[in-house]
Amino acid sequence: MTYHGDEAFPALGDEQWARLQAYGSAQEVESGALLFGVGEATYDLILVDSGEAEVVRAATARVAEAVVAGFGTGQFLGELGLLTGQATYLSARVSKPGQVHRSSPISFRQLMDEDPGLSDVILRALMARRRNLRAGEAARSIEILGSELSARALALRTYAARQQLPHTWVEIDTPAGAALARAVAAAGGDLPVVITPTAVLRHATPALLAGHLGLSYQPVAGPLLDLAIVGAGPAGLAAAVYGASEGLKTLLLDAVAAGGQAAASSRIENYLGFTSGISGAELTGRAAVQAQKFGARIASPSQAARLDTTHERLRIMLTDDTAIEAREVVSATGARYRSLPLDRWAEFEGAGIYFAATELEARACGPDPVAVVGGANSAGQGALYLAGRGNAVTLIVRGNDLAAGMSSYLADRILAHAGITVRTATEVTALHGGGHLEAITVHTAAPGDDRSDSNQPCRGLFCFVGATPATAGSRTSLSMTTASCSPAPSWTAHCSARPGLSWAAARCRSRPASRWSSLSATSGPGR
Ligand SMILES: Cc1cc2nc3c(=O)[nH]c(=O)nc-3n(C[C@H](O)[C@H](O)[C@H](O)COP(=O)(O)OP(=O)(O)OC[C@H]3O[C@@H](n4cnc5c(N)ncnc54)[C@H](O)[C@@H]3O)c2cc1C
Repeated sequence: MTYHGDEAFPALGDEQWARLQAYGSAQEVESGALLFGVGEATYDLILVDSGEAEVVRAATARVAEAVVAGFGTGQFLGELGLLTGQATYLSARVSKPGQVHRSSPISFRQLMDEDPGLSDVILRALMARRRNLRAGEAARSIEILGSELSARALALRTYAARQQLPHTWVEIDTPAGAALARAVAAAGGDLPVVITPTAVLRHATPALLAGHLGLSYQPVAGPLLDLAIVGAGPAGLAAAVYGASEGLKTLLLDAVAAGGQAAASSRIENYLGFTSGISGAELTGRAAVQAQKFGARIASPSQAARLDTTHERLRIMLTDDTAIEAREVVSATGARYRSLPLDRWAEFEGAGIYFAATELEARACGPDPVAVVGGANSAGQGALYLAGRGNAVTLIVRGNDLAAGMSSYLADRILAHAGITVRTATEVTALHGGGHLEAITVHTAAPGDDRSDSNQPCRGLFCFVGATPATAGSRTSLSMTTASCSPAPSWTAHCSARPGLSWAAARCRSRPASRWSSLSATSGPGR
């Protein structure tokens, strides 16, 4: 089985092939020879000059080994991990003897820098392959086993989705889940568990999974970083693209994963150049690849706790006490969602209380009633999305008028939707449930009436009551101001007004104007 012609498997001309070969060295290969195995931290781009090769997903506890792709003469092996630094989760072997050319990671980087024509073709192929791998047999290489109602499992799944990892979710309360738990000897207390071809990670967290896959921060020997960016939402990603494309040695850190708030948006229609709209995950996924194409490294989850400006070099201190030094630092930490001051709020976050309404959160609610809190567009979009999936939605608005804070087209759709009950002049006052949210108490103050209380079943409380700048924790050491707030501060990279970062900004300013603008520019439109 070989593939020809489509975006994932481009047909390269002789002249292109010769240019590609120049970045590698030739090797004769016998049938059955391993080209790369699973769990390798780095691997080569491999060109098949003659013969054939196949990429294989190893047997798992549940299914037999499977060939996920075949490659013939004139095709190259490799996928997005070549750029992201992810360890291999598939293996490749020779199925028909011949000759290959191998390009080491360093040569591959050179190719990306030096040959824009080839790098475009290869990047498109790597991205298309990752899409195929996520949707096909390869997704069984990383299995996440847990309960849909668990906040820890949701954090893992969010990480996997943001990183666009090929993976499969296995719900523990299903026959398949029970069988997998038995096969890897996982008890209830071990959940969530991640099963990869080389490990079973119990009590798995995004940090554990990232470490296993080589996606967390790893110091690299060599010259000091020119630029470290904290926060990989649209603003941080934009800063990384411009910094790296100007030749700065760039590192991008995120406490969760690349994407930021935008990754939770099902459709962004006001981003310049995307006439028919684009999903936030697609937009930020592309931006991450673009930054990595120019040589930026992205590490997550890596949460900055503070910036130490007392040394000659700026030093970012992560929450695990790792110190990262850089000549210049950009803080693009965006916004933190506001919550409601209710007892047990923290307990139910991720276990019935959500700040995004995507497939992941919606699935945890099943077909049960849910509530959306907020009177602006995010709440309106969330309510429509959930009602569209069949949930009975109560939209809880503190003000008296739905139209006051919401675009009229959204308010009209909501009022016309039979699945949405709008309760204005209403607030949530109590949360109820065991390990997961089950019900809420709401108070309504109708004009001229006394306050009335009622309890209602609620499997998911979706909170869209705005956000505040995510400067908490760093405020004492980093006094952040918004470098350019128009039209919306939340899309803006923030720079510090304190000497440490002002100094960094001043140094940026002393460089060509394009560099300064790359570090301070807004990354996108407002809402
Ligand atoms: C559901 C939804 C739909 C939306 N739809 C639209 C739309 O259609 N059009 C539009 O224009 N806007 C939309 N927005 C708003 C848009 O997504 C935001 O304005 C944008 O993401 C802000 O970008 P940012 O990079 O400044 O910050 P953020 O996206 O908030 O990213 C900040 C990043 O910094 C990270 N971070 C924070 N603190 C630290 C730390 N200490 N260490 C390391 N990392 C840290 C966070 O994890 C996060 O990834 C939507 C938002 C949501 C939630």
